[in-house]
Amino acid sequence: MQLSVTGIVRRFGTVAALGGVDLDVAEGEFLTILGPSGSGKTTLLKAIAGFEIPDEGAVTLGGLDVTLAPPRSREVGMVFQNYALFPHMSVAQNIAFPLEMRRRPRAEVRQRVEAALRLVELEGMAARLPRQLSGGQQQRVALARAVVFDPKLLLLDEPFGALDRKLRESLQLEVRRLQRRLGLTTLFITHDQEEALIMSDRIAVMDKGRIQQIGRPGDLYARPASRFVADFLGESNLLEGRAGQGVAQLPGFGAVPLPGAAAQPDGPVTLLLRPEALRVEAAAAPLPCRATGTVLETVFLGQSAKLRLRVEGGAEMLARLPLRPSDPPPPAEGVVVTLGFAPEDLHVVPQG
Ligand code: ATP
Repeated sequence: MQLSVTGIVRRFGTVAALGGVDLDVAEGEFLTILGPSGSGKTTLLKAIAGFEIPDEGAVTLGGLDVTLAPPRSREVGMVFQNYALFPHMSVAQNIAFPLEMRRRPRAEVRQRVEAALRLVELEGMAARLPRQLSGGQQQRVALARAVVFDPKLLLLDEPFGALDRKLRESLQLEVRRLQRRLGLTTLFITHDQEEALIMSDRIAVMDKGRIQQIGRPGDLYARPASRFVADFLGESNLLEGRAGQGVAQLPGFGAVPLPGAAAQPDGPVTLLLRPEALRVEAAAAPLPCRATGTVLETVFLGQSAKLRLRVEGGAEMLARLPLRPSDPPPPAEGVVVTLGFAPEDLHVVPQG
C-alpha cells in the first residue's frame, strides 16, 4: 500500500471529526473521499498531509510511519479549491517553488518546470502572473506545482469547486488522464457524487467521521450497504415493503420476487430501485413488476427526462427516461401511466 490510515481519531472538544478511520490506497490508485459537509473529509486530508496530528491512529506513506512528521517532509503534492498560487510570482516561479524548497540544482529545476508546463499545456504562459490567467489555467498551474517534485501522494481538495460546469468537466478528464499517465497515487476530496463517479478507481463514502462504505463506483451505485450511501450516491427510489417466502409485498406493485431471497429474513425490507430502472408506458408493458401511476412533475434534461410520479396505492417515485431527439415528448403532469421494472434491478438495502 502506498498510503495506509489506521484507526485515526480526531476530536475537537466533544465533536469527533474522525471517529476511527481505516483506509488503504494502492500505488497508482485514484481514491475519492465523498461525503456531505461536516463529515470529516478535510480533517482526514489534513491528518494525511500533516496539518493535523490525530489523537489516535497512524498514517503510513510509502511504508514509512509519518503520523507525527511535519508536512514538508511527507512528499505530498496538494491542490485546493482556491488555487493558493503565490500572486507575486510568475507561473514558472510558482511551479519551481517546491523544487527550490528542496534545493534542487538549477538545471534540474528548469527542466522539470518545462516538463510540468508541457504536462498541463501551459507552455506559452511561463512568464505570466496568476492574475493574468483564467480560473482553469490557475488550477492547472496549481496542479503542475503539486506534481513537479514527483510526490508520493497527490491530495486534491475540491479542486474544481470554483470553476464553471464545462470547465470543471474538461479539467476532471484532464486530471484523470494526467494521473493515469504519471501513475500518481491520488486522494481526491469532493461532496459532488457525479464527480466521484467520473474520476475514481474507488470511492470511500464518509458520514459523521466514519467511512460508511468503500468500493468501485459501479459496485457502490448498484449495491449500497446502507440507506445513507444509496441516497447520497445518485438518485434513488427506496421502497418500503414486507418480505416473506422469497417475495416482497410492495404497495402498488403487489408481490415482487426478491433478489437473493434465501438470505432475506421475513419482515420489513427496504428495496432500492434506481430511477433509470423504473420504466414508463410501452417500456414498462413487458416487465413483470407493474403498477399504475400519475405523473406529478416532468423535468426535461436534454438527453433524458426526469419524472416524479405517485404510484396508485403506493409511494412517490422517480423515473429517468432516456430521450432521443426523434422521441415524442415524455408524459406531462397529470397523465396516468403504467410503470414497471425488472425484479433483478432491485437491491435489498441492509437495515440499520
Ligand atoms: P466540508 O465539505 O464542509 O468542508 P468536511 O467533510 O471537510 O466538510 P471537516 O471540515 O473535516 O468536514 O469537519 C468535520 C467536523 O469537525 C465538523 O463538525 C467541523 O465543525 C469539526 N471541525 C473541523 N475542524 C475543527 C476545528 N479546528 N475546531 C473545531 N471543530 C472542527
